[in-house]
Amino acid sequence: MPARLLDGVAVGQAIRASMRPEVEAFTREAGRPPGIALVLVGNDGGSELYVGSKMKSAGESGIRADLERLPATASIDDLLRLVDRLNRSDVHDGILVQSPLPKEMGADAERRVFDAIDPAKDVDGFHPTNVGRLVQGRASLVACTPSGIIEMLDRSNIEIAGTRAVVIGRSDIVGKPMALLLLNRHATVTVCHSRTKDLPAVAREADILVAALGRPGFVTKDFVKPGATVIDVGTTPVSDRAVIERLFAPGHRRLAAFEKRGSLVLGDVHPEVEEVAGALTPVPGGVGPLTIAMLLKNTVRAAQDRLRARG
Ligand code: NAD
Repeated sequence: MPARLLDGVAVGQAIRASMRPEVEAFTREAGRPPGIALVLVGNDGGSELYVGSKMKSAGESGIRADLERLPATASIDDLLRLVDRLNRSDVHDGILVQSPLPKEMGADAERRVFDAIDPAKDVDGFHPTNVGRLVQGRASLVACTPSGIIEMLDRSNIEIAGTRAVVIGRSDIVGKPMALLLLNRHATVTVCHSRTKDLPAVAREADILVAALGRPGFVTKDFVKPGATVIDVGTTPVSDRAVIERLFAPGHRRLAAFEKRGSLVLGDVHPEVEEVAGALTPVPGGVGPLTIAMLLKNTVRAAQDRLRARG
């Protein structure tokens, strides 16, 4: 039987709908809506698109979103000054600095900037204080993609406690927080990475398998225990026809989309996995829409926490 497809668009909408009363209550009490500042440095096309859709979703959810732009020639000090101003702003509860930053800012620029954001406004959940709280199981602001995946599992009635979970990928923004969230929810968790030996055998133990490596079609049927839940985080743009034709059988619906656009965004999970998994997130339309919904949810949470902290 083909896998149940987990619809991230529907779950994202449900998360946003459930936030509405909270946004309204906050706005009444504080005399202003929750607010987020989105910082965009330079004019990277992908980043413009991401920031644009975050602005639009915030507006639709009753959240104030302000775009703060810096030119590609800005220095790291210019950016740190902007972050400092936003840290002190009364109307901004959340600050998001869009990655990637221009290479000229230096290899450690992202870390320096994320470290400079007030942890109370860190709606990306990347600040070491928030990561430390996550390790201790008392986090308020958690990285959006992994926390969206937990919401998706909960809202799809997929049990986490007591299961075996395997996370492929150990990045600070997806793999590590994902593993910690699953652990905090009482899964038995294994984290795999590029040096893991016999990865398919480890992955096959999973009741919940999360693929977050950025390698299109890497997770084949061999990695999946029949009936397992498979979460595909990968989003890699591919325009190489040979790669597309290797992954999708003739007549597959995504081939038509490729013919039209000349490229596709591909997940880490091979299409054949649909035949063995119990449940599966598609790409696109799986994990992606959850990330923005959780960014907005974090913004509302940050706003509420800041209001409460003022007494
Ligand atoms: P990253 O490059 O920082 O980390 C990739 C991880 O995969 C590393 O820990 C590495 O050890 C592991 N890895 C690489 N090759 C491997 C291999 N052959 N075997 C086992 N492990 C291997 O990437 P990231 O930022 O964690 O993102 C991963 C993917 O998720 C990317 O495709 C990214 O675009 C996507 N992503 C999607 C969303 C979303 O909202 N849908 C959000 C964040 C990231």
